[in-house]
Amino acid sequence: MRQKIRKSIGYLALLLFPLSMNYFSPYLSVMAAMEGIIAGSVIVFFLMFLSGIVFGRSWCAFVCPMAGLSEMTNSINGKVVNRNKLSKVRYVIFSIWFSIILIFFILNGSIVGIRPLFMSENIISIDMPLKYITYYLVLGIFILINLLFGKRVACHSICWMSPFLEAGFWLGSKLKIKQLRILSISENCINCKKCNQVCPMSIDVMKSIERGYIKTKDCILCGECVDACPKVVLSYGFRQEE
Ligand code: SF4
Ligand code: SF4
Ligand code: SF4
Repeated sequence: MRQKIRKSIGYLALLLFPLSMNYFSPYLSVMAAMEGIIAGSVIVFFLMFLSGIVFGRSWCAFVCPMAGLSEMTNSINGKVVNRNKLSKVRYVIFSIWFSIILIFFILNGSIVGIRPLFMSENIISIDMPLKYITYYLVLGIFILINLLFGKRVACHSICWMSPFLEAGFWLGSKLKIKQLRILSISENCINCKKCNQVCPMSIDVMKSIERGYIKTKDCILCGECVDACPKVVLSYGFRQEE
């Protein structure tokens, strides 16, 4: 039941993407930064950072429009991928993009204003036919990469947003805040590997359960492993980083 609800929320977020696209836009954040303005997407990225402090990457399982899309593509190509290699691409993309934003703010001397509806005055993101090109381009790239290369490859390799969640998660760990985690009791494990098979993030869950919780920042807390485990080895809980 939990997975049905989670996936339904993901599909709904995907359906609403024509309304919300601007609020995740890397392009609009740069255009606004050129004028020293904080756009709506930057506010969303900041909220993602804050949510990461306590809730880690849960955004990626429950809120992001691309979560719904990834559920569909994973069911077609569920190949396990090399997370560490792919994340290097993501960090390069993020560093270049984020540096551009910072440089524009520095060149402007200060932040001159906050405009949540910057270039989105009609509130909805796709308010003219031309904007469908951007919409279909974003969806097309995500679909193509995932279908060609495997489980959530686009999330691992080109997502410009997840570093904000990761930064929040890192800060929460350093501050020893109790964070939402997948906890484990490894003694109960029967090595059936069901958790590994269902994990949408290509995490070797079985290997990770020894330390009592799943530590990697790539865990999106979707709970697929929790629900697939026949021996109640895994559960949700709040705990500090060790
Ligand atoms: S990795 Fe990026 S695109 Fe994928 S679900 Fe998370 S925030 Fe969305
Ligand atoms: S480890 Fe479990 S909760 Fe984390 S991403 Fe994989 S299946 Fe989801
Ligand atoms: S699904 Fe549960 S019992 Fe099976 S390998 Fe994973 S943790 Fe162990």
